[in-house]
Amino acid sequence: MRVLVMLDGTVADPEAAHIRVDDLGLMRGDGVFETILVVDGKPRELDLHLDRLAASAAKLELPEPDRVAWQHAVEAVLERWTEPECALKLVYTRGPEDTDEVTGFALGMSIGEQVHELRRTGVSAVTLERGIDPGLAERAPWLLLGAKSLSYALNMAAGREAKRRGAQEVIFTASDGTVLEGPTSTVVLASGNTLRTPPAQIGILPGTTQAGLFRAAERAGWTCTTESIAVEDLFTADVVMVASSVRKITRVHTLDGKQLGDSSALHEQLCALYEAEY
Ligand code: PLP
Repeated sequence: MRVLVMLDGTVADPEAAHIRVDDLGLMRGDGVFETILVVDGKPRELDLHLDRLAASAAKLELPEPDRVAWQHAVEAVLERWTEPECALKLVYTRGPEDTDEVTGFALGMSIGEQVHELRRTGVSAVTLERGIDPGLAERAPWLLLGAKSLSYALNMAAGREAKRRGAQEVIFTASDGTVLEGPTSTVVLASGNTLRTPPAQIGILPGTTQAGLFRAAERAGWTCTTESIAVEDLFTADVVMVASSVRKITRVHTLDGKQLGDSSALHEQLCALYEAEY
């Protein structure tokens, strides 16, 4: 199932063409996006997603997104949505070349069985170098590290590299050997009664799913910290997880070919906390 609503409120045919060939989002990946999980008609972390859309747009020096128009577009998709879950994409580009028009649309999409399976079974992951150091994001803002831009070809290529290596997921590492993030996920690990995730300032995207999990876990008595994580910490943690809106909190059962400890009970406990948040 697909439902498409343009940013001006027009409900459009999702099978038809609507974007000009000279749209800079298409020509140069010059735009930003969000993917929001909707369950039983309720979008999860909508405010955080709209905040992040605005933050990404600011990094790309795009016109500030019209928050009310985006909220209306989201509502218009959800009014027409009939399945229990939806992956709702918001796409916002610089628009056609040599115009002042931005392009924006909200597209609801069904969630495939493959995603449900990954949520259940967990994933095997490989660490891959990203070639950046933790201070680069601050030194070089033009690299747009930490913006959810449409330029995701690198992230997709990393996924294919993981597949070539027999794995399903990637954990990017920085040049100093610390953990960054997945191509489309935040890394979270649990050790004892503490949840840890790397800080966004090192050039990664602040995750909305991780934020929801931390909020729920803190209320349940967990200590939640944002701090530098060494790759070795992943091998000794009680559970390693990758968090992302559509895949939710997915367990990493194998890393670089080594099986991680059997953490399924702890993972289930954390997933239950996360679900109870909504
Ligand atoms: N990091 C990157 C690079 C991502 O693309 C994503 C989501 O797609 C995330 C982290 C997780 O963010 P969220 O939990 O808000 O989906």
